[in-house]
Amino acid sequence: MSFYYYHIYPILTSWISWFIFILGSIIGSFLNVCIFRIPEKTFFKNSRSCCRYCGEKIPFYLNIPILSYFILRGKTKCCSRPLSIQYPIVEFLTAIIFVFLYWKTPFIYNLNDTSQIDFLNLARFTHSFVFCSVLIVATVIDIRHMIIPDVLSIGLILTTPLVILMHPDLSWKSSLLGVLIGGGSLFIIAWLYYIIRKEIGLGFGDVKLLAGIGGWLGSESILPTIMLGSIIGAIIGIIFIIVAKKKEGMKTAIPYGPFLALGAFLHLGFGAWIQNLLFKLHGMI
Ligand SMILES: [Zn+2]
Repeated sequence: MSFYYYHIYPILTSWISWFIFILGSIIGSFLNVCIFRIPEKTFFKNSRSCCRYCGEKIPFYLNIPILSYFILRGKTKCCSRPLSIQYPIVEFLTAIIFVFLYWKTPFIYNLNDTSQIDFLNLARFTHSFVFCSVLIVATVIDIRHMIIPDVLSIGLILTTPLVILMHPDLSWKSSLLGVLIGGGSLFIIAWLYYIIRKEIGLGFGDVKLLAGIGGWLGSESILPTIMLGSIIGAIIGIIFIIVAKKKEGMKTAIPYGPFLALGAFLHLGFGAWIQNLLFKLHGMI
């Protein structure tokens, strides 16, 4: 109850978190556009949103994040063909993640009854929301197409110097080491897998993604990201194999990218908390 009172209640009653929720859902709707257009390489064609089936322009009032899908009951207005559930899921997920990140690094505070901006937290928030947005796009594209586009993974690597400049807690040493260790460690795992199994288990896309994660979160993030990602990946993988055995003809390859992304997100959001928990567990043994 006290967790609700101290942590959830203040979020629900503050206008800024609702503003961030709405902003997050709008950015989520932009991420949906990225998810469809980056693999099709149509990112810069027709800037206004059109129906994916008949090309009809979509009026702004049918383009409300999260809600439109339910108002339209999952069908396009123009030609009543099915709308992907991916739209509201990505929009809602982005909005919730935005509110969570704001809760972690609140950048507006009250001082003598006036609202002040905490610029260090604003930098931390901007860093984590851009990072999570890239991860969301990479995850959904990897699930749909089994690839992680270079524009995302190499994009993260190339923007690392920018992150070092703007982020208050990230050192250039840790970031550059992160790129090297992140890319290097997974490259060795991928190479060993290839030597032993004579097939490609890990794509080069995963290697580049982890290098980017290392750059944006620092070298300390590599081990927790791989471990968290692998543990969750193994659990999902086992469930997947059991289900796939029952349903014949189901593909058995699952992309690793989403688990790396999830591992990185968990480390970013809950790393300190997980470390604390492990220390406590260690003390108990
Ligand atoms: Zn249509």
